[in-house]
Amino acid sequence: MCGVVGIYNHPEAANLAYLCLYALQHRGQESGGIVTSDGGELHSFRSMGLIPDIITPQVLETLPGKMAVGHVRYSTTGESRLQNVQPISMDFAGGQLALGHNGNLTNARILREMLEKSGSVFQSTMDTEVLLHLIAKSSKSHLPDRIAEALLQAVGAYCLVFVSKNQMIVARDPKGFRPLLLGKLDGGFVVVSESCALDLIGATLIREVDPGEMLIFQEGEMRSVRFALPEKRENRCIFEFIYFARPDSHIFGRDVYQMRKGFGRQLAKEQPAEGDVVIPVPDSGVPAAIGYSEVSGIPFQMGLIRNHYIGRTFIEPEQKIRDFGVKIKLNPVREVLNGKRVVVVDDSIVRGTTARKIVKMLREIGGAKEVHLRVSSPPTLGPCFYGMDTPTRKELIAANKSVEEIRQFVGADSLGYLSEAGLYWFEKGLAESFCDACFTGKYPTPVPDAHD
Ligand code: 5GP
Ligand code: SF4
Ligand code: MG
Repeated sequence: MCGVVGIYNHPEAANLAYLCLYALQHRGQESGGIVTSDGGELHSFRSMGLIPDIITPQVLETLPGKMAVGHVRYSTTGESRLQNVQPISMDFAGGQLALGHNGNLTNARILREMLEKSGSVFQSTMDTEVLLHLIAKSSKSHLPDRIAEALLQAVGAYCLVFVSKNQMIVARDPKGFRPLLLGKLDGGFVVVSESCALDLIGATLIREVDPGEMLIFQEGEMRSVRFALPEKRENRCIFEFIYFARPDSHIFGRDVYQMRKGFGRQLAKEQPAEGDVVIPVPDSGVPAAIGYSEVSGIPFQMGLIRNHYIGRTFIEPEQKIRDFGVKIKLNPVREVLNGKRVVVVDDSIVRGTTARKIVKMLREIGGAKEVHLRVSSPPTLGPCFYGMDTPTRKELIAANKSVEEIRQFVGADSLGYLSEAGLYWFEKGLAESFCDACFTGKYPTPVPDAHD
């Protein structure tokens, strides 16, 4: 998954982009980059690693200008290597152009084959690069028209921020899979994946970028055009609310924290449990566990404590420690758990390996008498083709086992998931404007054929 930011008409464009990426780090921890324009040419920096480690004061000094595009990435299409770090840039007849993309195109392979047949040479394995080639090949003369022409050939999820020498152009796919917000700061404009980034830099939220809308920033002004007609049905990613977005963000017109707590409240109604204590799997399970506790009346406690200082790799001791991977991240609080019937709430079960280790840890180290696992989303049945990094179907436990078999696998006394209908606790009929394909199998676009 990814996060994007665009800064327009601000003397501290690179610094602000850096701060926004810092706030969006949860959306991608593998690599990041910033490209700025000073009106004459583009300046870029890209690297593997976390934002505060790679974007140093020295790096920021090499990024002058009042316009910036920034990106954080966790690989979806295209393996992780420097070539695939975004923003990606190119030089073409129309000048220099940089692009940051959040999402995933479902027809990238077909487009790429077509482009390669007609002579395009690709520098990366990313789906995003096909957009740049389509733009370069366009017969239109103005950049927004070239981009619009390219986007009409693309299918899937995209929030895009382009920066050229003298323009910033932003676009969101007509189905609106991923969030994208417009804000303002000191006479300039800011576009970000989540509102927590606006908060950090003190920008004011104006509104969401609409699905199918293109914003063109030029000569200090913003202009809005539609490059695609509104779709009958939008497909906001419900998983952004369940897990992905930061709980302090406001996206898709709603507060993530309230949504997450609501999933937990609904879960308590649908899947009650006899327990002495409700605990979350931190951090992602916290708001849902609070909601569960509120409705069930079972007291909320922190029964697992998370270490927040884990880098991407840690050195395993030579002598194998059992369940080391989970233990380094989470440790049970015996005082909360010992002898208790514990209701543990997590946001999702993907492979099931985390849940299994946690249940074991709650019993063996924490001393829990019973463990009742409650999940604030429905069983994950299929992969995501729209930018979320879910594994293939064969690794998804719920695609291969029944709820009872999963309960046995994780070793819980009981297991309950939120229902599909329960996802839409917040408003009747709204299911129409969300994508929930990884839970329901109802994919809103044709899916790539090379998957299992
Ligand atoms: P698993 O069932 O694969 O062992 O892990 C489930 C846990 O992973 C849950 O606690 C959930 O919060 C977290 N999770 C769910 N989706 C994702 C994802 O796309 N990426 C990462 N890194 N974690 C996820
Ligand atoms: Fe979100 Fe799931 Fe749809 Fe992907 S398939 S966009 S994760 S709801
Ligand atoms: Mg989690």
